[in-house]
Amino acid sequence: MYKYKLIKNLSFVMIAFVALVFPAKTFSWPREGSPEISQGKYFSITLDKGIDAVYVAEKLNYDYLLHPESALDLTATTHDSILAKTLDSLYLEVSDILDLHSYNYHGSIHFVKDQAAVRKIFAKYFGKEFSERSFFLQEENIIFISSEDLTLGMLGHEIAHAIICHYFVAPPPTKTQEVLAGYVEYSLRKKAGSLPVIINQ
Ligand SMILES: [Zn+2]
Repeated sequence: MYKYKLIKNLSFVMIAFVALVFPAKTFSWPREGSPEISQGKYFSITLDKGIDAVYVAEKLNYDYLLHPESALDLTATTHDSILAKTLDSLYLEVSDILDLHSYNYHGSIHFVKDQAAVRKIFAKYFGKEFSERSFFLQEENIIFISSEDLTLGMLGHEIAHAIICHYFVAPPPTKTQEVLAGYVEYSLRKKAGSLPVIINQ
């Protein structure tokens, strides 16, 4: 009981600490000039100017029909809708890996040009430097990701963060989330055969 209280108090302190260290500013999204191009069941997708859906889908190299729940759905006819279906299917696969199923989830994914663009958006929200190629902004339920560096594992990692934050009323500590998201990334890379040979065996 005492232990539980202590843990509970500690988690409040941690949340307060994170909120102090990363005070997110609020901005409305999508920005002007980046119109919503595609609406999936689980994601609204926007692409920065100059990035097309085919480029993104090719980089992901993920057949949306591979997921059992998508196998009977042949309604995608345009490149944009194929990308939306691909991301819906990836969402279901990440849910399966985590065994966390939230069928009422809906978030956003914004594909930007490169790491510099991701860094710029991060700086706008948090006023800090950022060297990663993607991040999930919990406050607005949106994933920002560099198209230039895009991989299936990287996007799966961010989708895992989105699912975890949506599923749990009080999201688990950052380290726990990273372990789970890292496991999703590892699983997707293993399945796609993109792990270094020594790990893939
Ligand atoms: Zn992460």
